[in-house]
Amino acid sequence: MTYEQKITLLKEKIRSADAVILGAGAGLSTAAGFIYSGERFDRHFSDFSAIYGIKDMYTGGFVAMKLPPEEMWAYWSRFIHINRYTDPPKDTYQRLFALIKDKDYFVLTTNVDHCFQKAGFDKHRLFYTQGDYGLFQCSVPCHQKTYDNKEIVDRMLSEQKGMKIPAALIPTCPVCGKPMTLNLRSDNTFVEDEGWHTAAQRYNEFLRRHEGLNLLFLEIGVGYNTPVLCTASTGNIKIHTKQQSTEILLLNYQFNNHVSERRAA
Ligand SMILES: [Zn+2]
Repeated sequence: MTYEQKITLLKEKIRSADAVILGAGAGLSTAAGFIYSGERFDRHFSDFSAIYGIKDMYTGGFVAMKLPPEEMWAYWSRFIHINRYTDPPKDTYQRLFALIKDKDYFVLTTNVDHCFQKAGFDKHRLFYTQGDYGLFQCSVPCHQKTYDNKEIVDRMLSEQKGMKIPAALIPTCPVCGKPMTLNLRSDNTFVEDEGWHTAAQRYNEFLRRHEGLNLLFLEIGVGYNTPVLCTASTGNIKIHTKQQSTEILLLNYQFNNHVSERRAA
């Protein structure tokens, strides 16, 4: 089947489905131009690169986590600003939205960069399972709440000198006074706040409402680490594939034997 034929088939599957469940991973944001290395990295992080030998934003994030807080937040505020509060260079998300906006759809994503909402997707039809660069949480965490970070990140960005933010801007928990951290799932300290639980509930309700209908599960841009729809779980979410009329299509997929075997079973 040629590329064009595959695209035509995909459009037909979307058209004929009663509802579309979209799973999206990092590959979609990469396709939209959120590249973590090369020119985009050099433009914003050449000073960190010169001193710490960092070559890309992703691995640099781990290095930055071990720096003193003034430097760590100088790094992360730049990172958050360009990957969360700036639009991606390409219109990939808008074009995807144009394809499914008139369908009954739901999006489940491991992406934490807010691109779906920026492109017009209805936030009530989105479930960000792994967090959001735009939210802080207590690092302990002493309570299950998250905090919008735009205002403080903007200040960290504009008030940093060299590679340090002023100590007064280091974010601390309003309840226990310990350091704040990003609301990103990396271990069991991840805060699943009220918004997270509401979205999880909406997703489960969406599946329940569409039981027995012709569903299309469309998985885009996922890799080994963060499959969204086609493994047993992401967080506590499981795909419901027992319905006879369910179709699964994969785009831009980093293939993995484990996943393909599961699909065949
Ligand atoms: Zn706390």
